[in-house]
Amino acid sequence: MSFDDLGLSAELLRAVHAQGYSEPTPIQAQAIPAVLEGRDVMGAAQTGTGKTAGFTLPILHRLYCGPEKIRTRGVRALVLTPTRELAAQVADCMRAYGKHLPLRSAVIFGGVKINPQIAALRRGVDVLVATPGRLLDHLSQGTVDLSKVEVLVLDEADRMLDMGFIRDIRKVIAALPPASERQTLLFSATFSNEIRKLATGLLENPAIVEVAAQNATADRVRQTIHLVEKSRKREFLSQMIGRGDWRQVLVFTRTKHGANKLATQLEKDGLASAAIHGNKSQGARTRALKGFKSGDVRVLVATDIAARGLDISALPHVVNYELPNVPEDYVHRIGRTARAGREGEAISLVDGEEIGYLRDIERLLRQSLPRTAVEDYTPPQSLVDADARTSSGKRATGKPGQRHLERSRNGGKGHGASANGNGRSNSGQGQDSRNGNRRSDDTRSADSRGNGNRSNGARNNGARHGGPRNGGANGGNNGNRRGRDRQHAARAAA
Ligand code: AMP
Repeated sequence: MSFDDLGLSAELLRAVHAQGYSEPTPIQAQAIPAVLEGRDVMGAAQTGTGKTAGFTLPILHRLYCGPEKIRTRGVRALVLTPTRELAAQVADCMRAYGKHLPLRSAVIFGGVKINPQIAALRRGVDVLVATPGRLLDHLSQGTVDLSKVEVLVLDEADRMLDMGFIRDIRKVIAALPPASERQTLLFSATFSNEIRKLATGLLENPAIVEVAAQNATADRVRQTIHLVEKSRKREFLSQMIGRGDWRQVLVFTRTKHGANKLATQLEKDGLASAAIHGNKSQGARTRALKGFKSGDVRVLVATDIAARGLDISALPHVVNYELPNVPEDYVHRIGRTARAGREGEAISLVDGEEIGYLRDIERLLRQSLPRTAVEDYTPPQSLVDADARTSSGKRATGKPGQRHLERSRNGGKGHGASANGNGRSNSGQGQDSRNGNRRSDDTRSADSRGNGNRSNGARNNGARHGGPRNGGANGGNNGNRRGRDRQHAARAAA
């Protein structure tokens, strides 16, 4: 199928061709006709699938050619996104695809001055891209009118819920025309029960569009696990970047503090680095991203929320310096590479306290990830044993045969499967317990937004693997605290 077959206006096709796209991605091939028909759409697609053009192109077409052709001032299409970066990217797409159309777009998010946004809204905006918090500020000040919205898009709806935006979203929706008088498109990486609940009453008889598997992107990413002691991760990472002569690498940490610290240390190692997270000013975030895209910044260290939806074309390397405690975040992270059909590499440095997280990720992916050795580094036997111990007989799914193959292939370099792990298990557990305490502190200041259930899963795993016993003991408070952290992170991100 070609773009020309989709019924988009000549102006939009010119803009698409200028981007160099030869054919629609699967999500575009499904979503564009449904949106053009005026249907509500529920799309299961994560970033990297081309979903932004999947809703941007038909919305612009309908606003430009649609039967109403309303020419009154006021927002006609509203796109809500969880983060500032994603809002900026969607707005960029709107501008790029709509450059031959007489439609105005604007983007509004927190962390920057409100007055230029008020001025832009006053001049008149057809398409508004916004994060929920700042949009509510405008609503309460009466500087935006949403009563004429014809199309509402909830982009990365799962993440908006994870970040605690549900009440903000509901308030925004209350300012829109009713569902029967507007078109609603909801995109989410997964259709969880919470997402289905949100969709009820919001979408009317939606067309369901989805791209094959949730981890379709992950399939094209070369994934590698290195078992590395926590204390040696930084050195390991520096050497890996240097040895591979990597010019552009996105590194994930779990906490904002961890991101700052790592970026500073890598700078000292001679690698131009920057950190990006919710505590940074919007100016700093934009500068870091710009430097990274241009090649001035070689290593961008990010937390999950800040990196959510980042679109960096041809990004070759993603490193999980720390594994996420929500397995779905792993899929989002590695989806920053191997975008739009390209290949990419995702490398995870896993220490003793993260083996439970690794197991959760493998369970989600339904595959075991290859442990790979590198020259000049042999992981401690306790770590290898802890990995072998938790992998044997505890996994509900996965491909044990494949796992065994990878491990024995690498066995000569010190990562081999260990049949005699018991003798070392005590030392492994001791180390894990110490680290477990530390993690629970880190998490308190983290970009934390795991939901209660998932967090419980991670906690149970930790306990199972001899990990954060104190984390488990604090379990009764964790639900509330995580909820508060989530709200806090949401405000910081928007
Ligand atoms: P998205 O999932 O919307 O974040 O898009 C991911 C990347 O795919 C972006 O860099 C887009 O520019 C690119 N892209 C979108 N549509 C196409 C297409 N039809 N062909 C090739 N690349 C595309």
